[in-house]
Amino acid sequence: MNKGIKSIKIAILGLGVVGSAVLEALVSKKVAFEGQYGNIFDVSYILVKDINKTRDLHSTDARVIDDYNLVLSDDSVGIVVELMGGENPAFEYIKSAMEHGKSVVTANKEVMSKHGQELMAIANANGVDILFEASVGGGIPIIRPLRKDLNANDLYAINSIINGTTNYILTNMTYMGSSFAEALSEAQSLGYAESDPTNDVEGIDAAYKLSIMASLAFRTPILPQDVYREGISDLTSNDFKYAKELGYVIKLMAIARREEDGIDIRVHPSLLPEEAPLAKINGVYNAIQVHGDLVGQVLFHGQGAGGNATASAVVGDIIDVAGELFRDPSPVSLIGNQIRFPIRSISELISRYYIRLTVEDKPGVMAKLTDILGAKSISIASIIQKESDISLHNAELVITTHPSKEANVQDALIEIAELDVVESIGCKIRIESGFSD
Ligand code: NAP
Repeated sequence: MNKGIKSIKIAILGLGVVGSAVLEALVSKKVAFEGQYGNIFDVSYILVKDINKTRDLHSTDARVIDDYNLVLSDDSVGIVVELMGGENPAFEYIKSAMEHGKSVVTANKEVMSKHGQELMAIANANGVDILFEASVGGGIPIIRPLRKDLNANDLYAINSIINGTTNYILTNMTYMGSSFAEALSEAQSLGYAESDPTNDVEGIDAAYKLSIMASLAFRTPILPQDVYREGISDLTSNDFKYAKELGYVIKLMAIARREEDGIDIRVHPSLLPEEAPLAKINGVYNAIQVHGDLVGQVLFHGQGAGGNATASAVVGDIIDVAGELFRDPSPVSLIGNQIRFPIRSISELISRYYIRLTVEDKPGVMAKLTDILGAKSISIASIIQKESDISLHNAELVITTHPSKEANVQDALIEIAELDVVESIGCKIRIESGFSD
């Protein structure tokens, strides 16, 4: 080996979609990395669950193992790359790697959103690194900008689409007129949605990613349970028709804003004006808009998932960590400053609303609705009445409001649901401006 060329031993935990792409990139770009960075990345171990599966090891002589202690007890392993997913044992494995003096690269949003603070403290205590670029937005570089490149700014808002599965489903419902069930089934057949899609369609995955981004942007610990969350499964094809008629598209938005009295943080379907930048993000793509006092608005856009795109972020982190291994690692900046800013309740939110309800088609209904809304200081921006079914004597009404307080809207909807002329309240969707606020 040339003088100056450093061999870095790596253990990869998990050889699924991302692990396989990472291994392939490390092997296929070996010569380039040696030339550019002076590092030879030598994958010594690959930890898997089922050791009997046939695997493509891309001609490496890595040992495929199912006993993690072999990694921990090998002092020559400098970097552990965790690509198993799930909270445990991934969290325990990351923690013990650092306690054994090994730096960690992970793509695990669940672990980082629930335990990021603790893991960064462990990294600092042990003089090692933990990098997690792939945990949000797959191949989109967003963690490093939030931790470093935008440091000069007071970051005050994040508006994002960070779940490719739901964005694929919503795009399909918007442009193909599919029902939720049809769009989900197609996403599953293409491998974009899991057989149990709960984490994606209920906004849990987006809440993990948003809490990581908001913790970094606002420099305060934010946990996934701090994020107010609504999923997309109650949306009907009619909502997409009405949205189009009103000049909007429906997106699952992950929004975090630093307000004077606390942090507003939420994941829910939103109506966005058709011409807004995020309204144009379709299919499995992700996009993250960050607002800072100096930089203004920055938009990050790209593939939020997939083996190669995610490997781009993971291998980038491996190269970064390797650079630190031969220096004294600089202290890992903690997520935030340990001081927890208050989280605002969703009932404090001021927003515009889209409300769809089914009512009896007879005179006097509108007066009853407007009385209730007026009494709660909710002013109506538009009303459309649709699909009056003469045989059933009912009609579907869509009301949009001017900015109103969420608590008032919730109270009004409870009263409206009790009216004898109201058959059902279909859904309530918040309307976002979609532009710089
Ligand atoms: P995956 O395809 O399901 O692969 C998981 C791998 O981990 C498999 O090789 C599995 O072993 C191994 N594994 C699981 N539990 C294990 C255990 N207890 N002990 C040892 N090995 C275990 O997952 P993936 O899609 O590659 O995702 C990996 C990570 O990347 C997750 O944190 C995910 O959130 C994140 N991520 C994924 C994407 C994406 O597009 N897929 C994008 C961004 C981030 P077997 O092969 O034996 O089953």
